[in-house]
Amino acid sequence: MTFMSQPASLDGTLKYPCGDAPPTGAVRLVAPGVWWLRMPLPMAGLAHINVWALEDHDGLTLVDTGMHTPAAMEGWQRALGGPLAARPVRRVICTHMHPDHVGLAGWLSQLHDCRLWMTRLEYVVCRMLVADTGRTAPADALRFYRSAGWDVEALEQYRARFGAFGRAVHPLPDSYRRVVDGETLAVGNRIWRAVIGQGHSPEHLCLHCPEDGLFISGDQVLPRITSNVSVFPTEPEADPLREWLASLARVASQVSDEVLVLPSHNEPFRGLHARLQALAAGHEARLAAVYAALATPRRAVDLFEVIFRRPIGPEMLLMATGESIAHLNCLVGRGHATRSLASDGVLWYRR
Ligand SMILES: [Zn+2]
Ligand SMILES: [Zn+2]
Repeated sequence: MTFMSQPASLDGTLKYPCGDAPPTGAVRLVAPGVWWLRMPLPMAGLAHINVWALEDHDGLTLVDTGMHTPAAMEGWQRALGGPLAARPVRRVICTHMHPDHVGLAGWLSQLHDCRLWMTRLEYVVCRMLVADTGRTAPADALRFYRSAGWDVEALEQYRARFGAFGRAVHPLPDSYRRVVDGETLAVGNRIWRAVIGQGHSPEHLCLHCPEDGLFISGDQVLPRITSNVSVFPTEPEADPLREWLASLARVASQVSDEVLVLPSHNEPFRGLHARLQALAAGHEARLAAVYAALATPRRAVDLFEVIFRRPIGPEMLLMATGESIAHLNCLVGRGHATRSLASDGVLWYRR
């Protein structure tokens, strides 16, 4: 999932050499043996995900899959029955476990009788979240969002929607092939190196081909929107923003600025290092703004104006709250803020 918290635009600095996106069901070659496809998403503000088909020795390796919706399934059927029909699917790789990426991994790997490749934490956490579907919202989660400052109505909505994750993901295969950081993957005649990031999801996989100057970035680097970095109820004291900032620096140190970046949303672009710097600077600016606002005690929900500079509607409340707490926990981790629990269960933060 991604979230347009502050579209830190770098127009002029970033170059988009691949042109317009292919319509659903069509393909566009963006490098020898690399096809760009787009699957529709049923989400306000995020209409598409980019997925990639890589030429492999005896067929195709797919990278990411789209959400488990009839429209995305139809998109695959049209592409795999049309422009890619001569090439059987031999493998499915998922960058991470968000439903827009992994939603059809189980369906595609079953249909084509092939292996799903993922990092271990993404596979395991995905299966954990899918298993929540059918359960009622746990008390820990309601306590977490109450502590962030949610009102009764918002908590009721959370209770009613709980389990939505599993409905957006086709059941995963019961076994998979683990990918580890730094591992090299041969796909056709090309060697890709696994670059792992954290903060947006627990063990996010990017694929880097230094020889051909290609970088499949997943949601680790997006050109026009920023990736959601959230704290979730399962780990209220987590500091994903610290991990995210470290991951941005790590990508900059491992991947050359020359690459063509193939991101999961928006369009392929050049200008990786400028974008990484802008993303890190954007978070540091928001951390400074939150720190300034904590001159008076605040709850997580009191900081939306400071962080997003726009009103947050009910459909964005969950991600905005998670992102607000991520900034607060980062300040707490740096020793710049403290939190205290009031007798009514609400957490207050101050400098
Ligand atoms: Zn994501
Ligand atoms: Zn995504």
